[in-house]
Amino acid sequence: MSETSLLDPSVDHAIQAIVLGGSTESTCTTDLAAGPWDFDIRPGYGPGSSMGDVIPTGSPRQGELPQDYRDADEDELHDRIRAAKLALGERVVVLGHFYQREEVVRHADYVGDSFQLANAALEHPDAEAIVFCGVHFMAETADLLSGPGQSVILPNLAAGCSMADMADIDQVEDCWEQLADVYGPLDVADDEGFVPVIPVTYMNSSAAIKGFVGRHGGIVCTSSNAATVLEWAFARGRRVLFFPDQHLGRNTAKAMGVELERMPMWNPRRPLGGSTAGELQDARVILWHGFCSVHRRFSVDQIEKARAEHTGVRVIVHPECPMEVVDAADEAGSTDYIRKAIAAATEPTVFAIGTEINLVRRLAAQFPQHEIFCLDPVVCPCSTMYRIHPGYLAWVLEELVGGRVVNRIRVSDDVAAPARVALERMLAAKPR
Ligand code: SF4
Repeated sequence: MSETSLLDPSVDHAIQAIVLGGSTESTCTTDLAAGPWDFDIRPGYGPGSSMGDVIPTGSPRQGELPQDYRDADEDELHDRIRAAKLALGERVVVLGHFYQREEVVRHADYVGDSFQLANAALEHPDAEAIVFCGVHFMAETADLLSGPGQSVILPNLAAGCSMADMADIDQVEDCWEQLADVYGPLDVADDEGFVPVIPVTYMNSSAAIKGFVGRHGGIVCTSSNAATVLEWAFARGRRVLFFPDQHLGRNTAKAMGVELERMPMWNPRRPLGGSTAGELQDARVILWHGFCSVHRRFSVDQIEKARAEHTGVRVIVHPECPMEVVDAADEAGSTDYIRKAIAAATEPTVFAIGTEINLVRRLAAQFPQHEIFCLDPVVCPCSTMYRIHPGYLAWVLEELVGGRVVNRIRVSDDVAAPARVALERMLAAKPR
């Protein structure tokens, strides 16, 4: 086997070479910080850690932001956002994801992960508009959970998620048909009451995928409850088809005792996903070939360097990181887990964190008694989340003040009904 074929195909080795000092090239720029509108019309995710990913042709494109907002400086935008929020009062609720840039988060009524934010919106049934400063799938989830008279607004339609886009509904439907060829009818249980395969999707997926899962007896998971959800699925099916994030699927199933040999990867561009029918028969978890471009950047070398330079350092990484990184860390957990772990530390501690830089910086500012740094020395934010510039936030809010709803995210009824079923199954799934 050649050295190249041993490399994890989900890791961007060009970026790794830069991180490890083998290349002097730079992949990250600050271009998105100043003016994401320069990139919004281009067919790609733009500068940052998602730039190597291919954007699907059907992705929503943002129209041109009026010049007035592009020319305004940070202070002016800040004042305009505050004034618009004041004018709208209880009619609007602004949600800011943990990974969102500081200039936007300071205007948020709630800051949290995608599911916490969708639930926070539920506390405002009278708000006419929910402005979601996150990415597209998060706004879709908020629309699924919001009331019929509420509009969910994504300030910049180009704020997608490269991971969510890696599981396209057509590819997933095609995969399902191929699995039926291998296993037989997928909705028929065997003598012991197990169906051949249960589809499980990570929250970071489109509403169309959540709807697919709901229609086929499946369930949604978050990075906080993935193990509970897998238990739910194993109680009903012989196997799980897990998408889009192979790393969350692998790390969770491995921690539950599933052997790596029983976790084949499904590459949608290859027949039977690149496995044999025998391998699929023996599978316990079929992992979709998706990954987060931010979390795949973390490496074991970074952890070793942090340990060499900081005696007693506590390394916590997100489970979207590759398995070797999770294995080398002291702990792995969701953004909420990371935040709570730091908040619970009673003694001054050095934390090396493997997740998105905006969250790490915020935690460092919030807990000055600890030393908190990001494992990745080449700092790259989530470039799609970064599309929510304050100019876009000011624009959507001022349009609302003028009585106009722009950039509304709507999930069609035929998708929304089964997607809600999949979400309700998740909420009802209890840890053992
Ligand atoms: S951090 Fe990764 S999974 Fe999260 S929104 Fe950005 S690309 Fe998607």
